[in-house]
Amino acid sequence: MSLLYTWRGTDAAAPPILLMAHQDVVPVAAGTEGDWSVAPFSGEVKDGFVWGRGAWDDKGNLIAQLEAIEMLLAAGFQPRRTVYLAFGADEEVGGQRGAVQIARLLAERNVKLEFVIDEGLLITDGVMPGLSKPAALIGIAEKGYLSVVLRVAATPGHSSMPPPQGTGAIPMMSAALKRIDDEQLPGGIRGVAREMFETVAPEMDGFGRIALSNLWLFGPVVQKQLEAGASTNAMLRTTTALTMVNAGNKDNVVPGRAEATVNFRLLPGDTKDGVLQHVKRTVADDRFELYALPGSSEASPVSPTQSPSYQLINRTVREVFPGTIVAPGLMIGATDSRHFTAISDHIYRFSPVRARPEDLPRFHGTNERVSTANLAELVRFYHRLVEQAAASR
Ligand SMILES: [Zn+2]
Repeated sequence: MSLLYTWRGTDAAAPPILLMAHQDVVPVAAGTEGDWSVAPFSGEVKDGFVWGRGAWDDKGNLIAQLEAIEMLLAAGFQPRRTVYLAFGADEEVGGQRGAVQIARLLAERNVKLEFVIDEGLLITDGVMPGLSKPAALIGIAEKGYLSVVLRVAATPGHSSMPPPQGTGAIPMMSAALKRIDDEQLPGGIRGVAREMFETVAPEMDGFGRIALSNLWLFGPVVQKQLEAGASTNAMLRTTTALTMVNAGNKDNVVPGRAEATVNFRLLPGDTKDGVLQHVKRTVADDRFELYALPGSSEASPVSPTQSPSYQLINRTVREVFPGTIVAPGLMIGATDSRHFTAISDHIYRFSPVRARPEDLPRFHGTNERVSTANLAELVRFYHRLVEQAAASR
């Protein structure tokens, strides 16, 4: 069941804040149960870590937010702004019954939020090349999602007398998919990615600092390097991923139709309609039928970094995690917070979870865990954030 808590502030005119986390978790992939060093749903505490599915995504945030609120309540803290807590129970499957309904309810009540903080980017250590300090990235936008289905029909026949070269359903589909793969949407160090690199650059060592501080000169070289890595490439462009192809069911029959699906993750600034036009133009063949699968979403708006709420999150991170670089970032995956864009212009996606390169596969993977020391930091973070945000003018 999805939950919405309201902690009423003393000043009804002050825009409220919203803390979010989700209660649901992804399953443990069948066949990988045995790879876990503890039972994945035991919540075992061992060797300084809380282990189990959801420890990191997203029960850490959930528990820490509740713990922080309880501490403030126990201390007699009285918020000036209303504090909302929204805990969806279906984030991993789109949030239609949870976050969507909560956002609708708040909109009906004419609530306009000062800011929203939800799960998101992490405090990474040793992940960004050339950066020796831990980096906390605050997601100020998230990418959109669009799957396009391509269908083509051709004359079926026997494989002993195939149709002329290039006219069968499979060759036509192959050629179209090759064109789509060749014609990637244009990338660039712009928008959120640019702001991130410009913020981080002065903290980097060696050539990274020089290159990223002088993009006017090194832009093309840096871009080429970033495009070579899957995760950095995803920050620079709307990505194109060929994910499904279906045609034929017998080795000696030329099929009469072929179908394929291409998944796009949209960069803020690109639109679903624009991408669909791009596919049409690239395929450039009227015999193809093209349509978007349901469940698509536009990229989110970009939340400002000059706002008091971003600055507060930034200060709070540096206070609770001394020595950490804070920079805006782009969220590649989706979060429940995207459903709140109608009632807040300041949506920040950040989980104060510490991660080293070897920890990244634990996310939705095997041996998910969070250290007990880090959990205490999470509580401190939310405690400080709510204390300051709720009292601020
Ligand atoms: Zn999550």
